[in-house]
This record gives sequence, structure tokens and C-alpha cells, in this order.
Amino acid sequence: MDHHLTIDRSACAGHGLCYGTAPELMDCDDQGDPVVITGPLTATSLERARHLVDICPERALSLKPR
Ligand code: SF4
Repeated sequence: MDHHLTIDRSACAGHGLCYGTAPELMDCDDQGDPVVITGPLTATSLERARHLVDICPERALSLKPR
């Protein structure tokens, strides 16, 4: 099953740990808010995305099945 990375914007504090850690999966917009730049995750990128979910201090990232 394909998974994709999602952001709960109401929980995000915008400090940039996610896009600083995995710029291949996430970037920031003009306001410095994170944006997901990847589509369905491959086996390798899924591991990286799981790492981001684990390290987000605000629990704002999650993996959702497509
Ligand atoms: S690490 Fe979490 S709280 Fe911080 S900018 Fe990324 S999504 Fe937002």
C-alpha cells in the first residue's frame, strides 16, 4: 500500500527541523512553513519519512495510506 507524508498545520510550530533533516522530502514556503514535496513514498523514502514522523517535536507529521 502506498503511503504519503502529511502535516497537521494546527500542530506545526514551524521551526524547520523536518525540511532541514530531509530536504529531498520536504521544503518550506515563503513564510517558512513546511511543505511536502514528495508523492507516494518508495521503500527508501518511507524509512526517511518515518524518521521525520519520529523526530517532529510537535507530532505534526504523520504517514497516511493513499
Ligand atoms: S519538524 Fe514538525 S513542528 Fe517542526 S516544522 Fe516540521 S512539521 Fe512543523
